[in-house]
Amino acid sequence: MLKVNSNYQKLPGSYLFSTIAKKVAAFSKANPDKEIIRLGIGDVTQPLPPSVIEALHKAVDEQAAAESFKGYAPDLGYDFLRERIAECDYRSRGCDISSDEIFVSDGAKSDSGSIQELFDTDNIIAVTDPVYPVYVDSNVMAGRCGTYDEKTGCWSDIVYMPATAENGFVPALPETLPGVIYLCFPNNPTGTTLTLSQLQVFVDYANQNGSVIIYDAAYEAYISEEDVPHSIYECEGAKGCAIEIRSFSKNAGFTGLRLGFTVIPRELKVSGVSLHDMWTRRHGTRFNGAPYIVQRAGEAVYSKAGQSEIRNMIKKYMDNAAILRNGLKDMGYEVYGGVNAPYIWLKTPEGMSSWEFFDHLLNNACVVGTPGSGFGPSGEGYFRLTAFGTEANSKKALERISRL
Ligand code: PLP
Repeated sequence: MLKVNSNYQKLPGSYLFSTIAKKVAAFSKANPDKEIIRLGIGDVTQPLPPSVIEALHKAVDEQAAAESFKGYAPDLGYDFLRERIAECDYRSRGCDISSDEIFVSDGAKSDSGSIQELFDTDNIIAVTDPVYPVYVDSNVMAGRCGTYDEKTGCWSDIVYMPATAENGFVPALPETLPGVIYLCFPNNPTGTTLTLSQLQVFVDYANQNGSVIIYDAAYEAYISEEDVPHSIYECEGAKGCAIEIRSFSKNAGFTGLRLGFTVIPRELKVSGVSLHDMWTRRHGTRFNGAPYIVQRAGEAVYSKAGQSEIRNMIKKYMDNAAILRNGLKDMGYEVYGGVNAPYIWLKTPEGMSSWEFFDHLLNNACVVGTPGSGFGPSGEGYFRLTAFGTEANSKKALERISRL
């Protein structure tokens, strides 16, 4: 008899953002005249930079002539883009990564969800808590997480590494030895980071114990402080234990275009097996390459003009982050993040649960954020606001919150 993958049935019923969408829709229906400010979902709002638009137009025009038309892209990405990534994102920061260790993809969500395929289903995974939900859900779908406890919000076979105000958002090393450790810094949802020496502790642990770190650096471009590593390969020995995932979504506004990449160093081996070779095989089998025009757009991000344009874009978002962060602090909220990441993570007031605070903000200020508990058990009692809105809306949201 045909059977479906029953692991999908184990996933808790409502995905965080669909629950939020339902609540907001119900509120709008009941209050059609009220204007809602959305500081919930992490999508960008600014248009693509001029250099990117120019590159897109040029690449589109190339498709109209037989001599310059491009069909299937190379599975692992065009050299012109892989070279720029290796040079600008890695070698210029002192990380010895070569272009053939870079796998261009259609975004960090696909890569962070699929990378678990490289590991046997009986491996234990460890995640920081709270966490970007894709790491956990993709492992649940693969049958790696055991059973879900509604009361605690925990999966029985996952090792959680809490990151809360109590430990300064620096997760402790896992108590049970995991095979795979997911780290995301700058962090979504907390907006916090690790220093180089704090990250080095994880790298040393992975090397000593034969674990592999999946390092999601989707928000790298938002780092403003000196002692915060932009790549895990800034740590000694990381090439022997870490895979890094990056995205063009949040640094250059590619959420709709779709482009990202994963770095797997050639020397990264598990029991003598090269993960680089495995991911090459996987890409060749399941992926026919990111579109040529999008890769040309990605290349434009690294041009001189492109770099200056994206810096302006990031500055605008980070100005919003400062407005929200400082404004909430002035009102007496306990606020984290917003310095090296476009996320503000605040402690809910007066012991409210994350969802209670969500309802309170929606009903009384018409502001939508994201309940921290949706990101994991240690997110309870916290709330996430994003800086991806407009300056006017960020200010308006603050003003409304101040009147609560
Ligand atoms: N990784 C993290 C931590 C994210 O927060 C997001 C998007 O919100 C992604 C990956 C997804 O990036 P992409 O748009 O490249 O799929």
